[in-house]
Amino acid sequence: MNIKINHIFLCICLLCFQCSFAQHRLTNSFKVIPLGIKGGLDESNLSAYMIAPAKSENYICADAGTIRHGLDVAISGDALKGNAGDILKNNIKGYLISHGHLDHVAGLIMNSPEDAPKNIYALPSVINVLKEKYFTWMAWANFTNEGDAPHLDKYKYVYLKEGELVQLSGTEMQLTTYPLSHGPSYQSTAFLISHNENRLLYLGDTGSDTLEKSNDLQQLWKQVAPIIKANQLKAIFIETSFFDKQPDKLLFGHLTPRLLMQELDKLAKLTGVGALKQVSIVITHMKYFGSDEQELIEELKKDNHLGLKLVFPVQGKVMLF
Ligand SMILES: [Zn+2]
Ligand SMILES: [Zn+2]
Repeated sequence: MNIKINHIFLCICLLCFQCSFAQHRLTNSFKVIPLGIKGGLDESNLSAYMIAPAKSENYICADAGTIRHGLDVAISGDALKGNAGDILKNNIKGYLISHGHLDHVAGLIMNSPEDAPKNIYALPSVINVLKEKYFTWMAWANFTNEGDAPHLDKYKYVYLKEGELVQLSGTEMQLTTYPLSHGPSYQSTAFLISHNENRLLYLGDTGSDTLEKSNDLQQLWKQVAPIIKANQLKAIFIETSFFDKQPDKLLFGHLTPRLLMQELDKLAKLTGVGALKQVSIVITHMKYFGSDEQELIEELKKDNHLGLKLVFPVQGKVMLF
């Protein structure tokens, strides 16, 4: 009898140990709140993703197409607590801007009068667009620390360099930056965000290497392959703007399901399919709505011959990785 009780006790102990081990392994590394997910048309739902370590409220915002309406949606769905103005000022610690197209910066510009001082992180070519086209006193008041005088000095431009590790001020995260090609001689950006040993990769708009006559994606894949093999990359945010039937000459530096899978095939060659299957592939920047959007999702699933983990973000809904 005694032996039996001991045995049961041992089993319970083992079970507890296994549970806590599994829990530890399953602990989320990043929390993402999409403030906007679309690639155009609907001005209330354009690319912007709040990203923080899972247990932190100190976010960086990757792209800033829609801010205020996204915060309102997140608050009404209990993804965020408080009011939009306070969260904008206190919890978004800075912006990572992938490129200067309006669908990635409109929310930042429109909310700038109410915002608190913070950094705008971008490649020099992207900062030039903000400086010379938007914060000019002609298009909008200059809330930044450079460009057309007077400078209101609310936002500080932080010039990123390819491959350089940068601390994201006010957060527990670091950033490494890589260039992307988004149409002829137009630069976009990939942001590799790190927290401890974990990583999340956010790509701004990008075309495929073949059509862009570029090797930016191949270079990026080379950089992240070892991280994927080490099981440290939790998610890749990457665009799919158009259907497969979109003619090449009308892609304007964007991806289709077929082109996305071609690029991910190249990544899988470097990492092995098994390792890449552990990474969530978050599909951003779809340009369709309603039944067309559903059709694009079906096309992505059909073209996903490697069986990768495709994830579709929803405005205002927390994603954990
Ligand atoms: Zn865009
Ligand atoms: Zn764009």
